[in-house]
Amino acid sequence: MEQAVLPARRRSRVIRVGNVAIGGDNPVVVQSMANTDTRDVAATLAQIESLAAAGCEIVRLAVLDDDAVRALAEIRKRVSVPLVADIHFDHRLALGAVDAGVDGLRINPGNIGDEHAVDAVVRAASAACVPIRIGVNSGSVEKGLLRRFGGPTPEAMVESALGHVRLLEERDFHDIKISIKSSSVLNTVAAYRLLATRCDYPLHIGVTEAGTLIRGTVKSSVGLGLLLAEGIGDTMRVSLTGDPVDEMGVAWEILRSLGLRARGPEIVSCPTCGRTEIDLVGLAQEVERHLRHVTEVFTVAVMGCVVNGPGEAREADIGIAGGRGLGIIFRKGEVIRKVRGNENLVPVFLEELDRFLSERRSE
Ligand code: SF4
Repeated sequence: MEQAVLPARRRSRVIRVGNVAIGGDNPVVVQSMANTDTRDVAATLAQIESLAAAGCEIVRLAVLDDDAVRALAEIRKRVSVPLVADIHFDHRLALGAVDAGVDGLRINPGNIGDEHAVDAVVRAASAACVPIRIGVNSGSVEKGLLRRFGGPTPEAMVESALGHVRLLEERDFHDIKISIKSSSVLNTVAAYRLLATRCDYPLHIGVTEAGTLIRGTVKSSVGLGLLLAEGIGDTMRVSLTGDPVDEMGVAWEILRSLGLRARGPEIVSCPTCGRTEIDLVGLAQEVERHLRHVTEVFTVAVMGCVVNGPGEAREADIGIAGGRGLGIIFRKGEVIRKVRGNENLVPVFLEELDRFLSERRSE
C-alpha cells in the first residue's frame, strides 16, 4: 500500500555519538537511559545489553560520584553501544567520564561552577571529540527566566537552553545537541517548535516524566509524533516509569507509524468483534511473543473472520484469517494452507512464520 510522506525534515548539523551519527539526513536515533545504579557494573551491563537487543542505539547512564566514574570505565570496555554520561553540577565527574571513554556528555554548562570549570569540560570534550547534550526540563529553568516569563513556559525553556549553548559557543564548541522537555505534551511541542527556529543543532526529543506504560506511551506518542511529523527531532527517547526496555517497542512503533524507520515485523491484528470465531487475542499474543526478538521488517496479519480478514491477510507478507474453526494462511496474497480446529491455529501459524523467516533469510 502506498504511504503518504511527511514534509521535509528540519535541516540540522550532524554530530557523532561514538559511531552513531545524529542530525542532517541521518535516521532518527532511538535512545534510552539505564535505571540501574551505574556503580553496579553487572546489573548495568545486563540492562545495556537488553536495551541494545531491543533496538536502543545510545544508552545514557547517570554518573553521581567517583565510584560511578570508575564503573563507567569498566562498562565502557565491555559494551559496544555508545554511552552518554548524565552529570549534574559536578564538572570533575564530566572530566572523569571523558577519561573513562564515554561517547557523549549530558551536562548543562551553566550549572557546573565557574568559567574555569566550563573551560575544562569543553577542552576535554573537544580533545576527545565527545559531544555535549544540553538538557533543559521545565523544572530546571533558572529563577530569573521563570520571573521574566512568568513560569517554565516554552519561551523560558528555549532561553534557558540557548543560555547554556552560548557558554559552549563562546568557547568555539559546536558539537551540541539539545533537549527541552516538559511533562506537558503541548508545552514540549511548543518549546521544540520554537527552538527549531532558533538554532541548527540536532534536537533530542522527548516528553519527560510521561508516566507509566499506557499514559507514558500515549503522551510520548502524541508529543513525539507531532514533532516528528513536522520534521523536528533527530534523536528521541520515550520516557516510561518502569523497565526502560519497554520504551524501545514504543519508540520503534512511533517511527514505524510515521514511515521514518522500521525494526522488526509489523503485526496487524483486528480488534475482534461479534464476528470473531477463533481465539484471535490468544493467537495475536502468541505471534507477538514468538517474534519479539526478530529484527527483520515484514508484515504479519492476524485477522478474526472471513469478512475483512482475507483482505488484510492478503496485503501482508504472511497472514491468517479465521472463520468457523478454520484458519486460512496467506503468503503474499496466496492461500498456502487451511487449518482446522482452534487448537491447531497457533502451532501451525507459528510453524509457517518460521518457514517464512528461514526462507527469507536464505534468499
Ligand atoms: Fe470483526 Fe472480522 Fe473486523 Fe476482526 S476482521 S474486527 S472479526 S469484522
